[in-house]
Amino acid sequence: MASLINALNQNSFSQNSLSHNSPSQNLMTSSSSDQNLILIVDDTPANLTVISEALSDAGFEIAIAISGERALEQIQREPPDLILLDIMMPGIGGFETCKRLKSDPKVSMIPVIFMTALADVESKIQGLELGAVDYITKPFQEREVLARIKTHLELRKTQIKLQKSEQRLESILHSLKEVVWSARLKPFELLYLNPVVKQIYGHEPEQLIRDPLCWLEMVHPDDQLQLQKRLNAPDPSGPLDLEYRILRLDGEVRWVHCQAHVYFHTTEQRFRVDGIVHDISDRKQAEHQLRYTAEHDSLTNLANRAYFVTQLNQLLGRPHDRKSDQFALLFIDLDRFKAINDSLGHNVGDQLLKRVSQVLLDSIRPTDLVARLGGDEFTLLLRNVSEIEEVIIVSNRIQKKLQNSIQIGKKSFNMTASIGIVIDCSQYDSAESALRDADIAMYQAKSLGKACHQLFSQEMYEQAIQKLRLESEIKHALQEGEFFLHYQPIKRLDTGEICGFEALARWEHPVRGFVSPAEFIPIAEETGLIVPLGEYVLREACRQMKNWQQMYPAAAGLTMSVNLSSRQLRSDNFLDILHRIVSESHLKSSNLKLEITESLLMENSAATLQLFQQLQDQGFRLSLDDFGTGYSSLSYLHRFPINTLKIDRSFVQKIEPGLSSFEIIRTITALAKTLQMDVVAEGVETAQQAEYLKELHCDMVQGYFFSKPLNTAAATQYLQDELQPQSLLSSST
Ligand code: C2E
Ligand code: MG
Ligand code: MG
Repeated sequence: MASLINALNQNSFSQNSLSHNSPSQNLMTSSSSDQNLILIVDDTPANLTVISEALSDAGFEIAIAISGERALEQIQREPPDLILLDIMMPGIGGFETCKRLKSDPKVSMIPVIFMTALADVESKIQGLELGAVDYITKPFQEREVLARIKTHLELRKTQIKLQKSEQRLESILHSLKEVVWSARLKPFELLYLNPVVKQIYGHEPEQLIRDPLCWLEMVHPDDQLQLQKRLNAPDPSGPLDLEYRILRLDGEVRWVHCQAHVYFHTTEQRFRVDGIVHDISDRKQAEHQLRYTAEHDSLTNLANRAYFVTQLNQLLGRPHDRKSDQFALLFIDLDRFKAINDSLGHNVGDQLLKRVSQVLLDSIRPTDLVARLGGDEFTLLLRNVSEIEEVIIVSNRIQKKLQNSIQIGKKSFNMTASIGIVIDCSQYDSAESALRDADIAMYQAKSLGKACHQLFSQEMYEQAIQKLRLESEIKHALQEGEFFLHYQPIKRLDTGEICGFEALARWEHPVRGFVSPAEFIPIAEETGLIVPLGEYVLREACRQMKNWQQMYPAAAGLTMSVNLSSRQLRSDNFLDILHRIVSESHLKSSNLKLEITESLLMENSAATLQLFQQLQDQGFRLSLDDFGTGYSSLSYLHRFPINTLKIDRSFVQKIEPGLSSFEIIRTITALAKTLQMDVVAEGVETAQQAEYLKELHCDMVQGYFFSKPLNTAAATQYLQDELQPQSLLSSST
C-alpha cells in the first residue's frame, strides 16, 4: 500500500516537474485528495523550481501559478490547502491577489503565506493585515519553509475540524424542540439562544439577546418569587430543576420546565448559567384535566368526596387559635329525592341535582367549599365561622332557596333538605369522623320530620352507635332464628266472636332478653333489614293460620293481619314473594290482611294505587294501620281500594264523650261506612272503651282488654276456647 502511495506521489511529482518544465500551462493540480495541495504563486521560474522541488520532496502535492490572475482562477477551480504568494509580480501583485481572495467567503479561509525578498517590516505588517497567516523570506531556508507550512496546515486542519463540529452543533441546536440557553451573570447577559425560543417565548433569539431582562421578566408574576427563592438557594452547586409559567407578550401563558447548571469562578461567585427549557404546557394541561376529574363530580362539577375530605383534613391539621378560625361542616340530604328519581326518571333527577348544586353555590361565600358526596348527599365547609348563628343563617337560606320552586321542563319542584351540622370541628382529628357526626345529625333531622337542620351532639353519637350495634344484632338474629311471632286476637264488637289475629314480631335476644318491636322495627326499616324480617313474618303467619284452619274448620273464615313496611312493598319482587308464600302455605288470599300505614299512600300514589289494585284483584285484604296519626287529609282515601281502617290506639285511649277523640272516631266510622270499609279499634284496654266504641258503631276491636298478644301455644288455646262454643253450638243443632 505504502509503495502504491509513493508511486502515485512520484507520478504526481513528475507531472508537476513536467508542468514546471512548461510554465505556459501555469497551473498544476493533484488528483490525490489525501495529500495537501500547495499552490505556489510566483512569476520567477527559478523560485518556483526551488520551492516546488523542496515541497514535492516533502510529500506535498503542488500546483503552480505564475501570476495573481492565474492564481485566482486556479483557486476557484481547485481550492488548495495553502497558498504561497509572491508579493512582487507583474499584473495584480501579491497584496491585491490576497485581498481579492479574502473577499470571497468560499475561499477566504485558505491560509496564505507571503514570499518576500522585502526586508522592510511595513510590507510584512501590511501582508498580515490583509489576512495572511505568515511570511517567508527569500532566499528560502528550506527547513524553515517546511516547518511554517506544516504548522499552518495543521492549524488549518484544526480550524476546519472546529468549523465542522460547530456546524454539526448548530444543526443539532436548530433541530431541537427545547430552548438551549447560556447566560452570563452579574450583570445578566444572554450569550446564546437557539431559534426554537421564538416558538415558545414568541421572541427571536437576537431580540432576547439584545434585551436579556425581557427573558427574565417573562416569568409569570405568580411564579417569580418561587423562582427567585430557588435561584438563591444555599446549595446551588447541583443542577437546577424548575417548573414555572411564562407570560408571553400576546398574553398566552405557557408552562416550562427548566434544567440549568450554574458555573462558578469561586465557590461564592456564580458567573455563568447554561440551561434547557422544555415547553410542558401540554403535559400540565393533561395533568390539570386529570386532577380536575379526580377531584370533581362529573354531573354537577362540584368537588367530590375525595377532594372534600382532603380539604377538610388540611383544615383539621391547622391550629385554630382564634374563634374566627373555626369552621363548620354541613351534611345535606335532599328529602323525597329518591321518590322523584324513581317516578320521573334519572334524567329529571340529574337535572334537579344540578340545580340544587347551583342553589348551594349561591348560598355560600367563595372561600367556602361545597361538594357532592354522591346521590342526593352534599356537604358544605363554611370557613371563618365565629358564631353558631352564622351557620344557621346559611342553613335556613338553603332551605328557603330550595323551597322556591325549581322549574325543570314543565314540572316545578319545591325541595327541602335535612341538614346535619357540626359546629366545632377543631375537636376532630380526621375528616371522616367529622363527616360521620354531621351525617348522624342529618339523620336526626330526617327522623324529626325532614326539612330542618340539627346540630350534632354527643347524645346523637351514642344513639348512632347504639343503632349500628342493633343493626348488626338484627342481622345476626335473622340468621340464628331469634325472631318469632305473637298473635293478638281481633274480635267482632257486636257478637264478640273472634274474627282473626294480628301477627306481631318478637325478638328474644340471647343476652338482653325480650327486645321491643318499637326498638328494632324502626332500625330494621331504616337499614332495609325489614325486608327479610317481614318475609319471615309473612311466611310464619300464613303457615300458622293454615295450621289453625286445619285444626279447627271453624277458623276457615279468620283473617291473619300482617304488618307490612313500605320498604317491603316498594321492593321489586314483593308480589312474587307474597305469591310464593301464600301458595306454599296453601292459605287463601282472602285470609290474609295486609296492614299498611298512611304514609305509604302519600309517598308515591300512582305506583301504590296500582299495587293495591293488584292485591285487591287477587283477593288480599288491605288494612290501613294506625289510622289518624299520619296525614290529616281524608280526601285521598276514596281513591285506594282499602277494606279496613284501623283506628290508632291514641284515639281509643282518650275516648270519652265530649272529648275530640270521641268525635274523631265517630267521623272515621261514618266515613268508613260511606266508603264501604270496616273499622277496627286497636288498643282497647277497658270495658268502658269497648262500650263507647260499640256506641260509635265500630266493627272490630283489638286490645289488652280482650287479650294481649299471645305466643303460639296460648293463641292456639285461645282460639280453641273461642271456637268451642260455636262448634258445640253447631254440633248440638
Ligand atoms: P301495630 O301494628 O299498631 O301493632 C299494634 C301494637 O299495639 C302492638 O305493639 C301491640 O302489642 C300493641 N297493643 C295491642 N293492644 C294494646 C293495648 O290494649 N294497649 C296498648 N298500649 N298496646 C296494645 P307491638 O307488638 O309492640 O308492635 C308495635 C309496632 O311494631 C306495631 O304496631 C307495628 O307497627 C310494628 N310491628 C310489629 N310487628 C311487625 C312486623 O312484623 N312487621 C312490621 N312491618 N311492623 C311490625
Ligand atoms: Mg298493625
Ligand atoms: Mg297499629
